[in-house]
Amino acid sequence: MAAEARAKAWRIVFLGPPGCGKGTQASILKEDLGIPAIATGDMLREAVAAGTSLGDKVKGIMAAGDLVGDDLMAEVVEDRLGRDDTAGGFLLDGYPRTVSQAETLEGILTRQGQALDRVVLFRVPEAVLVSRALGRKRADDREDVIRERLRVYREKTEPLVEYYSKRSLLDEIDGDRSIEDVTPQLRRLFG
Ligand code: ADP
Repeated sequence: MAAEARAKAWRIVFLGPPGCGKGTQASILKEDLGIPAIATGDMLREAVAAGTSLGDKVKGIMAAGDLVGDDLMAEVVEDRLGRDDTAGGFLLDGYPRTVSQAETLEGILTRQGQALDRVVLFRVPEAVLVSRALGRKRADDREDVIRERLRVYREKTEPLVEYYSKRSLLDEIDGDRSIEDVTPQLRRLFG
């Protein structure tokens, strides 16, 4: 990708329902842009696997398809965004997931003298999400848990579409396409 695209310190949020493919695309785009991809779900799963006190707190919540509390997530994210590797930008995947989390993020960035550049919404029909999720092998991918996570997404996370659209930060992409066809849509936004 062009040098000028690398030079910009992009601060990006990926927004979309479980199974929309944002994690896959985040790992591609982070290489293009030379910024860290921060996936809160991965961070929490690592904490569970390592048996840390954070892991113990979130294990049951995640297994049920619920959201970890906003205060706990604020600590996790503030700590992560305080690390040196985010000075040149970052791509957040899985945070914020509630309006309160979006406000927290705004506060953290304002204190750092930064702001978000762009929020990308991945649009995928619900039936596609369910069938994709059933094809995966993760502990929280049972059908009842998947449906619960989709319900939580609609209730708690979807309001962020309006939140970011009002702030003129929102771009949408069509996530109901192959991995190879989604990536160019993103590259057009950040190229
Ligand atoms: P997916 O990409 O399939 O939506 P993630 O890997 O991002 O799932 O997250 C898995 C689980 O981790 C969530 O269902 C939730 O329990 C927890 N989690 C991750 N990020 C957050 C967050 N920002 N707020 C609350 N809970 C979160």
